[in-house]
Amino acid sequence: MNDLLIVGGGPAGLATAIRARLAGLGVTVIDRARPPIDKACGEGLMPDAVARLREIGVVPRGLPFRGIRYFDRGAVAEGLFPDAGGLGVRRTELHQALVCRAEEVGVDLRWGVKAEGLQEDGVETDQGVLTARWIVGADGLRSRVRQWAGLDGGAGPLLRYGVRRHFAMAPWSDFVEVYWGPGCEAYVTPVAPDQVGIAFLWSGRKADFDALLESLPELRTRVAGAPLASRDRGTGPLRQRVRAVHKGNLALVGDAAGYFDAITGEGLAVALHESAALVEAIVAGDLGRYARAHRRINRLPDLMTGLVLALERRPRLRARAVRALAAEPALFSRLLGIHARTLPPRRLGLGALRLAWRLMAV
Ligand SMILES: Cc1cc2nc3c(=O)[nH]c(=O)nc-3n(C[C@H](O)[C@H](O)[C@H](O)COP(=O)(O)OP(=O)(O)OC[C@H]3O[C@@H](n4cnc5c(N)ncnc54)[C@H](O)[C@@H]3O)c2cc1C
Repeated sequence: MNDLLIVGGGPAGLATAIRARLAGLGVTVIDRARPPIDKACGEGLMPDAVARLREIGVVPRGLPFRGIRYFDRGAVAEGLFPDAGGLGVRRTELHQALVCRAEEVGVDLRWGVKAEGLQEDGVETDQGVLTARWIVGADGLRSRVRQWAGLDGGAGPLLRYGVRRHFAMAPWSDFVEVYWGPGCEAYVTPVAPDQVGIAFLWSGRKADFDALLESLPELRTRVAGAPLASRDRGTGPLRQRVRAVHKGNLALVGDAAGYFDAITGEGLAVALHESAALVEAIVAGDLGRYARAHRRINRLPDLMTGLVLALERRPRLRARAVRALAAEPALFSRLLGIHARTLPPRRLGLGALRLAWRLMAV
């Protein structure tokens, strides 16, 4: 019997597989799709995600970005990452880099195999039953493994969606730019010397990319006339709750282990931290340890996501927040460092009070 069977060969599943192989475990990954797998994503890897990938020998090709720039009603706030920067990477490029490394370390990769149900020590697939000592559900936002295991907590009340498109053009910035608009926000990520990705997030009813772009004239002008470099891809609702991240010999990782929102652009970093914690717990034979680590890993991102979502729903307060950050670039950089886990939260210090004061006064 194999040590580990992973359902889902996206970033979370493949990073877990590579780490588990490096720890000496026998690993099989199944995925219903075939590489390179594309997905709706803003494609900005935060600095800690880049570091986690490097640890397992994965160095995808992409374009570095130095920080985040917010645009809201004429106000512009710019924060630099205090240490290493982030990386804009096409999903297909990231996937290919993970697949190559997984092959190199000897992961048994089975593409075009769909999981259809769970058994006590195995997974039913459209090509027969596969067994293993440990089962990992890494099958994304709408995880079926989570549902089959009875761990699904349902979607949240606030319905949020995402859609992305690529434009064949030279990037105009080495920042990830975030444009706040009426009821939506756009994330602009330089992903290659000749390609820029734009991902929209919004609340409420389903919308399409062109309608969302219309609501941001500054951004629409930027990309006007540029040829399209990809087909639109969308997803949602984003919020997916989970009752627990493990049960018996089964664990969930990445989006399958619950998802809040893409508004802070760190889903990949979180998935990579989780994969490291999961392999440590499996090696120790104690999935309870993974559950505790999962809570720790997600505490700060959940707090940040909740705060930014609250601003998303209050445009006037949000515009004030952008002006406050614009007036405090060093503080904005420290916030980014904390967000990317390169600075401890205590480094915000009195800055938090200053920011609160500015929010009231600006
Ligand atoms: C609009 C948007 C923008 C985002 N922007 C960013 C960003 O800028 N930076 C960032 O870090 N994160 C971002 N994220 C989050 C990030 O995309 C996810 O957190 C990340 O993709 C999670 O990876 P995963 O491996 O858990 O899931 P996925 O990438 O979804 O992989 C799941 C895999 O499981 C397979 N699968 C599913 N069901 C089955 C089955 N029954 N049998 C076999 N295989 C199956 C699928 O084919 C897929 O390959 C964004 C998300 C959205 C929606």
